[in-house]
Amino acid sequence: MGATRQLRSDVNTPSSHRRRVGVAIPVPPAEKRKFRERLLKWYAQHARDLPWRKTSDPYKILVSEIMLQQTQVDRVLPKYQEWLTKYPTMEELAEAPLAEVKETWYPLGYNVRPVRLHAIARESVARYGGALPKDPERLQAFKGIGRYTAGAIRAFAFREDAPILDTNVMRVLHRVFVGRGDPKKQKSALWNLSEALIPRGKGYDFNQALMDFGAMVCTARDPYCLLCPMKDFCKTYPFTAR
Ligand code: SF4
Repeated sequence: MGATRQLRSDVNTPSSHRRRVGVAIPVPPAEKRKFRERLLKWYAQHARDLPWRKTSDPYKILVSEIMLQQTQVDRVLPKYQEWLTKYPTMEELAEAPLAEVKETWYPLGYNVRPVRLHAIARESVARYGGALPKDPERLQAFKGIGRYTAGAIRAFAFREDAPILDTNVMRVLHRVFVGRGDPKKQKSALWNLSEALIPRGKGYDFNQALMDFGAMVCTARDPYCLLCPMKDFCKTYPFTAR
């Protein structure tokens, strides 16, 4: 289990964060319980040691989440440290000239991201004194913060039981609990499932675990099905490439 590819993105960025009532993937309670318990047990043994897991500062969580969109963890790590040394707070990022911010971003690529991050910092300072709001609608009112990023900030900075659904999480939930059809066409139901699966009060660990599991076990191309703790009830086991 060595693959570490983990790309994040706001795979679904609807105008509202509100849950779609009535779109549900039925999961027997026993499977729900097994999935939660086994995922958290696996995470306790295999969690990655990542610097953004050692902070609850919403600004630092935001920086990590924006960097992890479209960029692999290994490439983000050195830039994350450099960025926070140069811009340790939302205020310092907001005050920096945009040209310099874009230069600091190099070579991460997908260069709309530093522009958005800078704009978020300025708006945060102007409207919230350099803080980020907890409220999902207010978070998603920032240009560049979609439903996934808002969920990650709520779960990882504010420790709320907020759901997330990036490409990795979507793949894991779809494989384990659905097993057919195109996951991209089932986003609403998968968002609801992501929310329904969170054990109360454990949103932080559960969401981090889901992302690590998708990056290290249930990988996109060659999932480690034979070693997988979910294989006895996974609807995709054994995975075969189509
Ligand atoms: S059995 Fe395979 S497809 Fe199913 S969750 Fe595990 S790794 Fe993923």
